This record gives sequence, structure tokens and C-alpha cells, in this order.
Amino acid sequence: MTGGAGFIGSHLVDRLVDQGDDVTVLDDFSTGRRSNIRDHAERDTVRIIEGTILDEALVETLADGCDRVFHLAAAVGVAHIIANPLGSIQVNSRGTENVLTACAHHERKVLIASSSEVYGRGGQVPMHEDDDRILGSTVIPRWSYATAKALDEHLLLAHAAQGLRGVIVRYFNIYGPRMDPQGYGSVMATFLRQALTREPLTVYGDGLQTRCFTYIDDCIDGTMLAMELPSAEGQVFNVGNAATETAIAELARRVIETTGSPSSIVHETYESHFGKGFEDTRRRVPSAARASEGLGWTARVDLDAGLRRTLESWEQQDSG
Ligand code: UDP
Repeated sequence: MTGGAGFIGSHLVDRLVDQGDDVTVLDDFSTGRRSNIRDHAERDTVRIIEGTILDEALVETLADGCDRVFHLAAAVGVAHIIANPLGSIQVNSRGTENVLTACAHHERKVLIASSSEVYGRGGQVPMHEDDDRILGSTVIPRWSYATAKALDEHLLLAHAAQGLRGVIVRYFNIYGPRMDPQGYGSVMATFLRQALTREPLTVYGDGLQTRCFTYIDDCIDGTMLAMELPSAEGQVFNVGNAATETAIAELARRVIETTGSPSSIVHETYESHFGKGFEDTRRRVPSAARASEGLGWTARVDLDAGLRRTLESWEQQDSG
């Protein structure tokens, strides 16, 4: 697995270990953390390799040694992408190309983690996998992430047309235990950190932009089904909780309520954080139809339950 030390990757490692698989983790530890996989460090069924997906030879060798590949390594988070557009594009395009080339060469089944960001600004909701993508200009750095992820999808589908067994999942605002407490962009991690340190919660813009927050356990269930079902091969699936559409200002209120924090809510302009010309997605809601019909998967954890579980683990993490 690439990116196995990251937030989502480490939960996937847990699941694979639980079901008795041997796992090789390739991670450059740029945003992945050793603490996420520390429970597995001593296990002889888990091999942890520090390296980058840009290292073609390494990727080739590791793919050869596996029977299937979960590709989750990526430069993630809007803030991160904007701060380092060049490095992000390289990892997200060339890195994935290396992984797919190696999987095609060694005939390994592969799942790639894509993102709801590929829908761009979004037109209509819910967003169906086959919908048009609506992105802004190339002078807006944010869209480089969606563009790179879309290229990754094209690459996988092109390889699949030549016989590669592969599947694509598009994640919608995944949250849960082990989100980066520094919150490299993710609004949920940022709000929780702010609430727990009694700082104001920073809502950008009018706060009426919405997201569908998807709990990590649901995300891992969907990911595993997509990898395991032969009928899913060659397809793209939304992995998102269509029932949790929440405005960001409302999320701020819920986080304050759940944590019992005395924090206030402040509104800030997009410009003050991202500079001029930032563009946001106004509403982001997945169509759940294909995942439901094709994978038999529907997200189950609602926002209140997910928030409570995340908070509990966060507090344990802090005290442990
Ligand atoms: N956001 C916010 N305050 C923050 C961080 C993010 O209001 O401190 C907003 C952000 O502008 C976006 C939404 O929350 O509208 C989700 O942002 P995130 O970076 O988590 O993910 P995105 O869905 O935009 O990829």
C-alpha cells in the first residue's frame, strides 16, 4: 500500500491486518505519521518502507512483491497544494503513473484513491460519477489537484482498457480518528483543534458552502468492497455520505456543541488565507447510487456519531 502511514491509509492497514493479510507500506512520511502505524511496527506481517512513489525502481520492486496494490499516497489538502503546487503536481501525477505502470507490468490489481475534488466547483448535486467536471482556470492553483487526480483516473482507465485490473474510489471529505491535528487544510481537523484549544473557529467566506462528511470506517468499508469485488473493476465509485450535507458554519456550531468548547466562531475571507483568486466548491454532495448498486455500500455513520467518536479518540491520543 502506498500512503499507508496517512490518515486513511493507516486505517486501511488496520483492516488488512485484522483480516490476516501481509501488508507492505510505502510512505515518504511527508504527511503520514509513524504514530499512525505504530501498533504494527513490531509485527512481522507488516513491512514499513520509507520512500517515495517518485522512485520508479522502488515502486517496481514493491509491486512485484505484492498481489494487489492500494494506492493512497498523494500530496493532499487544499492548503498544502496551494503552498507547494509543483511538488504536489509531481507526486500526484508522476507518482501515480509510476504505480500504475508497475501494476500493469506485474499484472497486479490496483485501487487508486481519487477525490471528490475532481468534480471541481460542481454544477448540479448530487454529483454522479459520470457527470461533467467544472473547474476554473489553470491560474488558480487549487485546481491543479483536481486536474492531477483526473489524469490519474484517465491513466487507470486507459491501462484497464489494456487489461489492467483496477478500480477508482472518489473520497468525499473523510474524517475520523488520526486526522492530522495540525489540520493541513481539512476543515474538520482544524475546527476540532481550534475548539479543543479554545481558539475561535475560522469559517471562510459566508459559511454556507456545504460538504458531505464521511466517517473513516465507512470509507474503509467502501474501499475494501471496491477492491474485492471483481464486478467493480474498471469503474469509478463515489465513496461519500450523501446524508450528511452540512454547511461549514453549521459544522462549526456542531463541533463547539460536541466538544463543549467556549470557542467563538469568526468569519474570515478566503483571500486572507489563500490569497487572491481562490475558488471554492459551493455544494459537494455525492450520488450514492452507483456505490449502493455496484458495491452494496452505503455510508452508515451520521455526523453526530462520527464527531463523538473522533473526539473520543482525539482525547485519548492527547492523554496517551
Ligand atoms: N474551511 C473553513 N475554515 C477552515 C478550513 C476550511 O471554513 O479553517 C472551509 C473551506 O473553505 C471549504 C470547506 O471548509 O469550504 C472544506 O474545506 P477542506 O479544506 O476541509 O476541504 P475541501 O472540501 O475544500 O477539499
